[in-house]
Amino acid sequence: MTLAPYACDPARTRGRRHPEAAPPTRTEFQRDRDRIVHSTAFRRLVYKTQVFLNHEGDLFRTRLTHSIEVAQLARSIARPLELNEDLVEAIALAHDLGHTPFGHAGQDALNACMAEHGGFEHNLQSLRVVDKLEERYPDFDGLNLCFETREGILKHCSRANALALERGEPGGVGRRFLDRTQPGLEAQLCNLADEIAYNAHDIDDGVRSGLITIEQVAQVPLFGRHHAATVREYPQMQGRRVLYEAIRRMLSAQVYDAIDATQAALERSRPADADAARALPPLVRFSEAARAEAAQLKSFLFQDLYRHPRVTDTTAQAQEVVRELFERYLAQPQEMQAGFASRQDTPRAVADYIAGMTDRYALREHERLTGRRLLAG
Ligand code: MG
Repeated sequence: MTLAPYACDPARTRGRRHPEAAPPTRTEFQRDRDRIVHSTAFRRLVYKTQVFLNHEGDLFRTRLTHSIEVAQLARSIARPLELNEDLVEAIALAHDLGHTPFGHAGQDALNACMAEHGGFEHNLQSLRVVDKLEERYPDFDGLNLCFETREGILKHCSRANALALERGEPGGVGRRFLDRTQPGLEAQLCNLADEIAYNAHDIDDGVRSGLITIEQVAQVPLFGRHHAATVREYPQMQGRRVLYEAIRRMLSAQVYDAIDATQAALERSRPADADAARALPPLVRFSEAARAEAAQLKSFLFQDLYRHPRVTDTTAQAQEVVRELFERYLAQPQEMQAGFASRQDTPRAVADYIAGMTDRYALREHERLTGRRLLAG
C-alpha cells in the first residue's frame, strides 16, 4: 500500500491508551480492524435495524451489511488517494457499534430517557463500546484501539461531552471538538462513504419495501440521470436489474466525483502530513454540484421514506419498547445481567445495557418484563 504524506501512517500512530508491543506481522490499524471484527458488538450489528426492522424482510440492510458497504466504498476511495485503507476499514466497521436497537428511533428514545443523566449519543456510545464496554482482554477494558481509529469513530460530539472526554484524556479524541479542527483524512472519508452508502442502499431497500417507487426516485436528479441513461442503453431490461444498474452507476459517479474533488483539494492545500491536514478545513469532499445533488436525494429520502407513515408507525412502537425497558431496569436493576446490575451509575448502566441489545433481544426482554408483545414479526 502506497501512502501519501498526508495519510495516517501506522508506524507513526499516536498510539493506544494502554501501551502494547507492536504486532509482528500486521500494522497497528490492521490489528484494530481485526479486534473490531472479533468484538461482540460487531456481531450484534447483524440484528440491529438500519432503516427497516429486521423481521420485515431478510434482504434489507442491517447495521452490519451497512457497515461492510461503508468499508467497501471508503476503501475504494482511499486507494487512489493513497490514504490508509486499513484505517478506513477499521473506522467504517466500527462507526455504528454504538447504535441502539431500532435505529434512530431507539437512539432518540434512549436520549430522551437519559435527558437528566447526561443524554445518549450514538457516536459517543460507539467510542464507549471500543474504549470500555467490550470485555475481552486481561489487562484493559475495551479494545484498546489506536488514537486514529478512535478519532474516526467519534464523528460528532457535543461540547459538554468533549469537555468530559478531555478531562479523562487530555489532548485526546475530545480535543478537536473544543479546538474546532478536523479529524484525519481517513476519518473524513468514512463520513462521506457513510453518506454515499446509505443514500444508495436506502433507495434499494425503499423500493424493495414498496414504500417508494422507482418512478418516484427517478424524479430526483441524481438518481434520475443514471436511471434515464440505464433505460436508454437497455430499453428491453425490466424489473430489479434496472434499479440495480441505476444505483450502481450513481455509486460509481459519486465515488469518482469524491476522488476527483478531494484530489483537487489536496493539490491546492498540499498538507505536509496528517496533522497538517487536521488543521485545514475538511478536504475529503464532493464537488459543489455533486454535494448539492446528494443533499437533494437525502431530503427526498427523509420526506418520502424515513417519514413514511409505515416507518413512523414502527418508530412509535420501537420508542415505547426502549422507554419501557429503561423505566423497568431503572426501577429494578437486578433484571439486567449481573455486570450491569452491580454498577453504581445505574442510569448509564441501563443505557449501556439497552444500547447493546439487538432488536429481537430488546423485544424479548420487553415482553418478559411487561407481558406485552410489540412489533411482533
Ligand atoms: Mg452509518
